[in-house]
Amino acid sequence: MSANDQEAYPLPQPTVFTEPFWDACQDQKLSVRTCADCDHLFLPGGPVCPQCWSANLSMKAVSGRGEVFSFVVYRRTYHPSIPAPYVVALIELSEGPRLISNVVGCAPEDVHIGMQVQVKFEPEDGFMLPRFTPLNSTPASEV
Ligand SMILES: [Zn+2]
Repeated sequence: MSANDQEAYPLPQPTVFTEPFWDACQDQKLSVRTCADCDHLFLPGGPVCPQCWSANLSMKAVSGRGEVFSFVVYRRTYHPSIPAPYVVALIELSEGPRLISNVVGCAPEDVHIGMQVQVKFEPEDGFMLPRFTPLNSTPASEV
């Protein structure tokens, strides 16, 4: 074992079903699968709508806003390119779908369930990953 080996960041491995999501992320856009038959929005992408089993699917851009549905603070480093502490959170998007991501831009101790967040794309080895940052940092509108 060499202590100085630099291990690469463990990037997502897109499949035929998740590739449209990751392609949009590379353009710093968050989009989710949508069913053309029942309008259900869902993540991750799959071959059929999980609600009505239709294969008539497309992608829909979403706001990138949501809230922390649940989270955990990792206080131990499990991968050399992901130093602790860091937050892994289940984010519920304003449009409904949930995804697992990181909350960044604040101390782990400040993260809480129900926290309003917005997407922030960050590159890892040139691959854009969707992470989430507290919404209060840039109030984009007063809607
Ligand atoms: Zn459907």
